[in-house]
Amino acid sequence: MNCILCNSDKVKVLEDIEPSILKKIYEQKKIKVGHFFKSEKLNLCECQSCNLLYFAPPAVGDGVFYGELQQKIQGYYLKEKEDFVLAAKHIKQGESVLEIGCGEGNFTNYLKTDNYVGLEFNEDAIAIAQKKGLNVINQSIEDFAKQNPEKYDVACYFQVLEHVPEPNQFITESLKCLKKGGKLIFAVPSEDTFLRYGVNLFLNAPPHHITRWRDTVFTEMQKSFPIKLKGIFHENLHEIHHVFYLQCTIYHKLRSLLGIPFKNFVRNNNKSYTLFKVSFILSQIFSPIYFLFNKDAIGQSVIVVYEKV
Ligand SMILES: [Zn+2]
Repeated sequence: MNCILCNSDKVKVLEDIEPSILKKIYEQKKIKVGHFFKSEKLNLCECQSCNLLYFAPPAVGDGVFYGELQQKIQGYYLKEKEDFVLAAKHIKQGESVLEIGCGEGNFTNYLKTDNYVGLEFNEDAIAIAQKKGLNVINQSIEDFAKQNPEKYDVACYFQVLEHVPEPNQFITESLKCLKKGGKLIFAVPSEDTFLRYGVNLFLNAPPHHITRWRDTVFTEMQKSFPIKLKGIFHENLHEIHHVFYLQCTIYHKLRSLLGIPFKNFVRNNNKSYTLFKVSFILSQIFSPIYFLFNKDAIGQSVIVVYEKV
């Protein structure tokens, strides 16, 4: 299968993942995901052309799944405050803004413009946004783009793209809504951070995330879309992620020292997983001291800004 972002046929399988490992992790959280995995195989693929990492075949969560995550995973909806602050810096007063997957429309709190429309599928979120007087509608980007070609100064999406099974189509449709010279701004979890060292990070895999984004992908994307890269901005590490950051970092060092090969997903009885748990205990002990000297550690989110050409 060709790359889902750049359509290249130079795709390498990095890891064979047993979907049963993911199913079991979710079962422990009392969330059923088995029906999303149509195949007994799940591959983590790396595109050799654009550098995107993605899971194939795609297994995509539905509304019920996201509702359960919200209920059962503490802190699932972290307010994307820093994403919003960084993105808003690139939007001028009075510019027209289209946000895709806008949730309750919290980004508008950071905007210096009222010229805003948000697209959202979650009816509860739409109701809350509309109560605040926001222009938020239940429409797909494909339908919206047909009716609103080259209309907006800014198209943006925050923590949305990594959930999308067809990112090429999604980006193409969002670009159709932009005027020439308009800005495309999006935020995704960065694969160039501590996240890439984690073990069994079920939220960073299907049916939640379908893709993983390195900074090199953002440069390569200029070859596949009519866009010019203006900037890549990494957020600072949130304090609530200190222990998790250090756990992944310590684990990475210990694993390298012991010569244990890296795998994203392993069974609970695997020595790699035991080492990851030991790293958690160590990180709890050392995190207060470590972050006294590492105040500028990089957080998990990255914001990318392009201009449409
Ligand atoms: Zn590619």
